[in-house]
Order: sequence, then C-alpha cells, then structure tokens
Amino acid sequence: MNRISQIFFPVFLLTLLQAAAWGLAPGRDAWTPDKMDQRRALPNVSTPPERREPVVRLAPRKDEGIIRRVALPEGEKAVALTFDLCELDTVTTGCDMEALNFLRQRRIPATLFMGGKWMRTHARRVWLLMTEPLFEIGNHAWSHGNCALLSPEGLSAQVLWTQAQYELLREDALRAAREAGEAAPDIPPVPRLFRLPYGRSSEPALHSLAEMGLRIIQWDVAAEAGDNRSPKRARREGRRIASRVRPGAILLFHANRVPKGTALLLREVVEALQERDYTFVTVGRLLEMGQPQTVRDGYFTTPGDNRALDRKFGVDGTGRRTPFTGR
Ligand SMILES: [Zn+2]
Repeated sequence: MNRISQIFFPVFLLTLLQAAAWGLAPGRDAWTPDKMDQRRALPNVSTPPERREPVVRLAPRKDEGIIRRVALPEGEKAVALTFDLCELDTVTTGCDMEALNFLRQRRIPATLFMGGKWMRTHARRVWLLMTEPLFEIGNHAWSHGNCALLSPEGLSAQVLWTQAQYELLREDALRAAREAGEAAPDIPPVPRLFRLPYGRSSEPALHSLAEMGLRIIQWDVAAEAGDNRSPKRARREGRRIASRVRPGAILLFHANRVPKGTALLLREVVEALQERDYTFVTVGRLLEMGQPQTVRDGYFTTPGDNRALDRKFGVDGTGRRTPFTGR
C-alpha cells in the first residue's frame, strides 16, 4: 500500500461502516432536508380532515389564561424552545429540517406547535417528529384561525380537527412500528398544549380552550429569524435574543420555513444560552418545574402589538375571504 492509500483506506472503511450503520437505523437520513420541505412545494388541500372529532377528549381545565413564562425556584436555569408550524387554508408552508435536525443532533428537547392542516400536508415529517422522544407536540389550530375573530363553532373546529388529525397520524406511526416488528413508540394520545395563532385571543376563546382541556402557551421571547441568512447578522441577533432570556423563559421560533433563517439563528441562540449555563426542556417539563405566569390578552413583546394582524390574513386569520365555520 502506498502512503496515500494508507491514509485514505481507514477513512474509506469508516465511511462504509457509517453508511452501513445508517442503513440499519431506519429513517436516519430521512432527516436530511429535501425539495419537498420548501415552502409551497406540496399541493394545497383545504378540505376537512378525514376525522373531525378526536376520539380522546381532554377533561375541561380551569381557565388559567395565557402562559407567557414560568417562574422557577431560585437557581434553576431551564428554558423552553418552541417552534410554530403554521399553515393557512390558502397556501402550504415548509418544514425546516435543518433546524429540527440540529435540535436532534444536539439532544435538545423542544415543543413543536403544529397546525392540523400543516400536519396533514407534512405527514411524512410528522411521523419522524412524533417518534423522536425529544419533541413534544402542541396544537396550533387547523389553519391558523385567529381566536379573536373566529365564531365559537369555527374555533372549536380549528382546535378539534387538529386533535383528530394528530390522532390519525399517531395511529399510522403505531401501525408502521407494529408492521416493522418494532416496539410501539411512546406517543401521547393527543396534544395538551395550544398556541394561539398570531398570539391573538378573546375572553370567550380562553374559556372555550379551557373547556376543551388545553393549556394556552405563548412566549416571552420572540426569536424571529426573517429571511436573512447572513451568519454575521444571525450571530448578532442570537446574542441579542439570548440577552433577553431569563430562567423559565419560553422562546418562540418558527420551523415552517416562512422565516428562512431559523436554523442559523437557532444555533447562535442555543450556543449563547449554553455559555450562560442554561438547560433546555419542553414546555410540559417547564410547567412541572414552577409557577406559570399568565396574561389575559396575548401579544408579541408589548401588549396590543399584534392587533394589526387581524386584518392581514383574510377575514379570520386563515387566509380565507369567507369566515371559517368548520362546516
Ligand atoms: Zn403560527
């Protein structure tokens, strides 16, 4: 063997072994982003889900308002990263596999708030995400209906269609594991957390969501990436966002590729927080650790800052010209 082969042969062998190992771990390379993860790549279907009512109904909860953050015992330095996967009735969005795979590779837990219609559009991704124990899945309404504008029937359908769509995909994931002779993945029967589209709500909507058994989770730090993919800007923004984080914070990101810069920004935020000894937990875990701090009216960073969005996305946030009624 000449000198070059001596160097490259072990590398070649390692690569082969690695490829074989990946081949044995089903779905591993399915986490690599592809064309179908881009915005508008998948066809838009605005029909109701195959099942409109979830089999599992949650017990009504006492209305506790909108949770923006959690007050933790002295010395605890946990925060929750959350990712919205929004999709209107009128258009399909994408799936940021780069950001989601980054979390998975670094073993960082996160809570993903999925729109029901987004789940159906991106079923192949939901199967992967559901079976990843790091991730907790929450409900983000069927087609991004604005809870301050929807009728009571419209609101109920936005929430329950999403619970039902989740159940259908969960059943598929369990069936696939059974057919492959694998152990059944541990996937919760239905989501228990809800995120308000646009952060918008109303007093009747808060009562109605509590009646449906859901806890309303907002955020106290918005990590909005925008489409800018300059590493320098991501670094500056990441530091700025991290400087606003306190223990018990809930951070808002998007993973639907509507902002394209999420993966870059996420890396910077995570690294800045890790330097300050923060640990990451799901929202569900964060709620177990302390006392939720709530408001009665949702907003981004200052009260009232999201009201103008009421008129920007169709008549009720779904992008439609006629109200969403759930019929
Ligand atoms: Zn959203």
